[in-house]
Amino acid sequence: MGKVLIANRGEIALRIHRACQEMGIRTVAVHSTADAAAMHVRLADESVCIGPPAARDSYLNVAAILSAAAITGADAVHPGYGFLSENANFAEMVEAHGLAFIGPRPEHIRMMGDKIAAKDAMRRLGVPLVPGSRGALASVEEARAVAAEVKYPVLIKAAAGGGGRGMKVARSEAEIEEAWRVARTEAKAAFGDDAVYLEKYLDRPRHIELQVLADTHGNVVHFGERDCSLQRRHQKLVEEAGSPVLNAAERDALGAQVTRALRELGYRNAGTLEFLWQDGQFAFIEMNTRLQVEHPVTEMLCGIDLVKEQLRVAAGEPLGYDQSEIRFHGHAIECRITAEDPDTFAPSPGRVTTYHAPGGLGVRVDSALYSGYAVPPHYDSLVAKLVVHGVTRSEAIARLRRSLAEMVVDGISTTLPLHRAIMEDPEFQAGDYTIHWLERFVARRT
Ligand code: ADP
Repeated sequence: MGKVLIANRGEIALRIHRACQEMGIRTVAVHSTADAAAMHVRLADESVCIGPPAARDSYLNVAAILSAAAITGADAVHPGYGFLSENANFAEMVEAHGLAFIGPRPEHIRMMGDKIAAKDAMRRLGVPLVPGSRGALASVEEARAVAAEVKYPVLIKAAAGGGGRGMKVARSEAEIEEAWRVARTEAKAAFGDDAVYLEKYLDRPRHIELQVLADTHGNVVHFGERDCSLQRRHQKLVEEAGSPVLNAAERDALGAQVTRALRELGYRNAGTLEFLWQDGQFAFIEMNTRLQVEHPVTEMLCGIDLVKEQLRVAAGEPLGYDQSEIRFHGHAIECRITAEDPDTFAPSPGRVTTYHAPGGLGVRVDSALYSGYAVPPHYDSLVAKLVVHGVTRSEAIARLRRSLAEMVVDGISTTLPLHRAIMEDPEFQAGDYTIHWLERFVARRT
């Protein structure tokens, strides 16, 4: 692999560029007109403008991206996360053009993109699921019948869902018709597909996910779990590795089950299986067939570079190590810092007048910010990921508090003050939280 086109922007484009650079691989950045001065464009070996600001005309413009790959002579495409990363048609087209797609096989992207198909596959492979409907709901009567069986509260979810959209809770039979109707309408509007399914709504779960990696020679390993329970509107804000509630035996047991399933599936490259965990039980909710935003906590925990591993296996290399050689050291935590008001979460794009990143032992900042950079209003509001590693969880928290105090992003509003407040909270410090904790914390603050 001599040259990789990075079909993304922002911190993740930079992240991928860095891995390529260290491996002696040249990079091609693509960008919209709004991103002409972006850091990923400045640092890449070559860059190609692929369209106007709107994502559908640029970062989602398959023809423009494939043309950019052709004219620059790229050998492979890394999709990052978001945009085209879980678009099976895009992966197919990349491969049809003789380029390597740095990600899973298109058939698996398609399978896991349909959450009903994903759950079916996991059921067949013996992975535990959240109880609910088998397949799509044909009618509100069926929803009522399944809900009576699994017991209220229940959740109606979009088969094509993502980003927490198309999800509605029904707490009793009186609410089921409304939940069914709203979920379907939202799903149709957001994803163009109104297929919905039903799951038991767990009242106090943690979100725990497992990072996996597979080569094209039948080797599958896992890099342990991430606890992503700190969410607002089903969006993750803080992630840690490992989970404060799992021990090594529980991690090993889940890891063995999942890697066995993915070996049977013939999975390729990186992926994440998401579970809800309650009362010591795991229940699969979905699989993401891409690199995730929160992958750095796993890298800090295991001392590996997941993007380099993705590049190696995409080039056909075998993993070259097995599960027993993967070690988990200390504890890592990530804060997602977004350009939003820390109280109202109103978007806050604009010019960054001063940017100062924290440093020191065990501190990593993945960001495409620089002083004078104007955060465009057209894209995701994530502007920096502050990731720390400590020998223990309490050292990691102390390091995060210290780093958050050092960090300066002036000129725009960011969620830095919210992260500072979370780190001071005794319940967070005790690791005592569920997926509902952060919503309550935010409500208490305002
Ligand atoms: P999306 O793809 O939209 O992110 P997920 O299926 O990954 O949807 O769910 C997102 C979040 O919604 C989970 O992390 C969890 O907080 C919550 N959630 C999903 N399913 C359930 C459930 N059955 N019970 C309780 N909470 C759930």
